[in-house]
Amino acid sequence: MSDCLFCRIASGELPAELVYEDDDVLAFRDIHPKAPTHVLLIPRRHVPTLADAEDPALLALLMQRVQYVADEVLGLAAGYRVVINVREGGGQEVFHLHIHILGGKKMPF
Ligand code: 5GP
Ligand code: ZN
Repeated sequence: MSDCLFCRIASGELPAELVYEDDDVLAFRDIHPKAPTHVLLIPRRHVPTLADAEDPALLALLMQRVQYVADEVLGLAAGYRVVINVREGGGQEVFHLHIHILGGKKMPF
């Protein structure tokens, strides 16, 4: 989707500070971090929201990659928070499914 911000990052058309990528996903630092470590993990495939992600294999893959990136790439051994905002009411601003990985401080409720 040429008009999708995160598709354009995934294709390399727009720059991002990548921390991990493979054939299925990429992870890059949020441009407005809300914690000392704030990374967004996205599927390369354009899926607008969590509610559109019907493939159980994709959902499992995303969660496995979150584990890997948080622990092995970012070294968030003390713990981290995983957030998915869904649609406008959930605070979603970019309509390409993304998982926030937040850490580096004790997260307040
Ligand atoms: P949402 O509110 O949709 O769950 O989260 C979108 C996130 O994308 C926000 O935290 C915002 O800071 C981040 N963001 C928006 N535009 C860009 C961008 O161009 N590059 C990067 N790296 N992050 C972005
Ligand atoms: Zn997209």
